[in-house]
Amino acid sequence: MQEKHPSTRAIREQMSPTGYREHSTPLFLTSSFTFPSAEAMADTFAGQGEGIIYSRYNNPNVDELIAKACSLEGTEAGFATASGMSAVFASLGALVEQGDHIVATRAVFGSTHQILSQILPKWGVTFTYVEPNDPESWPAAVTDRTRLFVTETPSNPGLQLVDLEKAGAFCRAHGLTFIVDNCFATPYLQRPADYGADLITHSATKWMDGQGRVLGGLLLGCAEIMEKVIFFCRHTGPAMSPFNAWVISKSLETLTVRMDAHCRSALAMAEWLMEQPGVEKVHYPFLPSHPQYELARRQMRAGGGIVTFELKGGEAAARQLLNQAQLCTRSSNLGDTRTILTHPATTTHSKLSPAERAAVGITDGLVRMSVGLEAVADIQADLEGGLQ
Ligand SMILES: *Cc1c(COP(=O)(O)O)cnc(C)c1O
Repeated sequence: MQEKHPSTRAIREQMSPTGYREHSTPLFLTSSFTFPSAEAMADTFAGQGEGIIYSRYNNPNVDELIAKACSLEGTEAGFATASGMSAVFASLGALVEQGDHIVATRAVFGSTHQILSQILPKWGVTFTYVEPNDPESWPAAVTDRTRLFVTETPSNPGLQLVDLEKAGAFCRAHGLTFIVDNCFATPYLQRPADYGADLITHSATKWMDGQGRVLGGLLLGCAEIMEKVIFFCRHTGPAMSPFNAWVISKSLETLTVRMDAHCRSALAMAEWLMEQPGVEKVHYPFLPSHPQYELARRQMRAGGGIVTFELKGGEAAARQLLNQAQLCTRSSNLGDTRTILTHPATTTHSKLSPAERAAVGITDGLVRMSVGLEAVADIQADLEGGLQ
C-alpha cells in the first residue's frame, strides 16, 4: 500500500480504541498498570508480555505520540521526554563514553552549547565547533576519539543551514553517529533520516505543540541507537507526562495545515520587511537573497515560521520595535499561533560574549520573529510604526 500523506498519518496514526469505542484518544493519567496474574507480570518484566509496566517507561498516550512522530520523521523507534533539552541531553549522555569527542556545528541552541561546554566536560567529553556552511572544513576537526556529529538546521536564530546530504556522507566516512536537532523545521518540512541521520531530537514545545501550552521533547532514530537511548532514559527518568503527550499528539493532527500557514505568512513577512525603511537585512531560508537558498529549496519543503531581521538603528531600534508592538508579544518562546518578537542579544543569547554572538550572526539590532497565525495584514500594521 502506498505511504499516506503526512497530513493523513498525523491524524489517523492513533492508538486502538478502548472498549468504549471512543473516536478521540482518551487521556491515561495513571502512573502504573496492573497484571491479571503473577505469571503475566513476570512475562512482561522479561520483555515477553503485552502489558505496560510503568509510565516512566511508557504509557498509551506517550506510545501514541512516539508512533506518530516516528511515522512522520521516518524513524524506527522513539522516546518522549519532558522537554527538548532533556531529549538533547539524553541523546548525548546515552551515546558518549569517558574521553570521547564530539564535532558540533557552531550555532547550536544555547542550552545545547551549555551541555557541550559546561556539563559533558565533567565526564571528560570534549567538543569542537565547525562552521555549519563549510562542510569541507569538518574532517579537520575529527580525532580518533570523535564519536558524534551534532547539528541543527536551520539554526536558532541565525537561520544558517547545514547540508544534510553532505553531513550524512561526512558521518559515514568517519564512522560518526549523526544527530540532528530538527526543531525549527519539524518532520513535515525536513526529514534528516532520509539523509542518514541516526538520531533526531525535537523540542516538541515549539511547532509540534504549536500553541504554546506544554513542554516536550522527542528522540527519534534507528532501532540500534534508540536501544541505548531508551535504556538511558528509562533509568534516568526524563519521561514525558501522559497529559503532555496527549496534548502534543492532538496538536500533530494539525501540524501540516499549521506549518503551511506559518510558512506562507513568514515568507510574506520576510518580503514585506525587506521593503521597510528601518530594516537593514532580512534572513529567511526561502528568500532568494539567503546565501543557502538553493540548499533550502533542496532539503526543505518550505522555509519555516521564523524570520530574523536586522534594524539599521541597532539595539535602540530593536527595543523600540518590541516596546511599541501591541499585537505581537514579547516572549522567548517560538512556534506558537501568536506572533512573538525576541531580541536575542539581550535575552536568549545574552550569556554569550559579543565575539561568540558575532560568530553566529547575532548583531545588536537583530530581532527574531516567530510568525504566528494571525492575519499577515494585522501583523504588518502592528510593526509598521516601529520600522520607519
Ligand atoms: C527550544 C529549543 C530547544 C529546547 O527545547 P525545550 O523544550 O525548551 O527544552 C532545543 N533546540 C532548539 C532548536 C530549540 O529551539
